[in-house]
Amino acid sequence: MSEESVDATASRTGPVGRLAPSPTGLLHIGHARSFLLAWWSVRARDGRIVLRLEDLDAGRVKPGMADGCLRDLEWLGLDWDGPVIVQSNRAAEHEAALARLVEEGRAYPCVCTRKEIEEARSAPHAGDVGSRYPGTCRGRFSSLEEAEAKTGRSPALRFQLPNDLGPVPFEDAFTGRHSADVASDVGDFPVARKTGEAAYQLAVVVDDALDGVTEVLRGDDLLPSTAQQLLLQEALDLPSPTWIHVPLVVDEGSRRLAKRSDALSLAALREQGIDPRALTTWIARSAGMAPEGPAEPADLVPSFALAAIPPSPAVFGPTQRAALAAT
Ligand SMILES: [Zn+2]
Repeated sequence: MSEESVDATASRTGPVGRLAPSPTGLLHIGHARSFLLAWWSVRARDGRIVLRLEDLDAGRVKPGMADGCLRDLEWLGLDWDGPVIVQSNRAAEHEAALARLVEEGRAYPCVCTRKEIEEARSAPHAGDVGSRYPGTCRGRFSSLEEAEAKTGRSPALRFQLPNDLGPVPFEDAFTGRHSADVASDVGDFPVARKTGEAAYQLAVVVDDALDGVTEVLRGDDLLPSTAQQLLLQEALDLPSPTWIHVPLVVDEGSRRLAKRSDALSLAALREQGIDPRALTTWIARSAGMAPEGPAEPADLVPSFALAAIPPSPAVFGPTQRAALAAT
């Protein structure tokens, strides 16, 4: 990094946002839209952007994908401040948070297999547990060591919800007030895998705090995670960011784009010689902005307004695709 860019970073006084791609599959147009909106939202108020590779799910991380993510973001014209943060390098910080939860009786070992949880849910005496974890291992073991010694299995860790937990309210700067009933919808949720590695919710909460993130703008598929992350932030005395959940990109049949729609991956578009400015322009229009012609993300910073984003999903079908190719 040049001295000049260090200075630019230091002088940014607005919110701190993050781009957090997961190198488990190709990034597609839906990711590009969420990333651009997150970037515009922060840059429009002279804020900093942290880039974090969420590579904890080691079994699903594919070789070369991390580099691919960075190439995709650069191709789009997005930049970030400071070095790339790699989530798997944060094992010590994640472990410290997990140890604290265990020590304070906020997390407990769970040796249940997925199949056992399914069976417990469908047992006649189980009642209406829905899809939540029924609490089988709550109070069952006094330590991870005991759980392992008694069962011969490597335990995961689950966050123990407070007994009197009612609906968890939170405010979303785009969609307004929400309330999630974590106790009846999810139950005690995982904070560490049986490999010892931090589970998604725990890692995100610890990392956002370490990175000083004050604003999380992401796709509304992650709205259900918010209450769990809030509970962890409370338990670990960490600040909560401003939450902003935006609608996803869907295809012409209203189906959300999945990682398997590789034809709409940024890598495929790049290889086809698509002008990234055409994609930026489509994304800007889908977010209520009115760029006159092909534009770089930086050109459009002054036009961004959260309130102008339509509340319904953005449709990207064959028509939009043809328009992109013709630009
Ligand atoms: Zn269990």
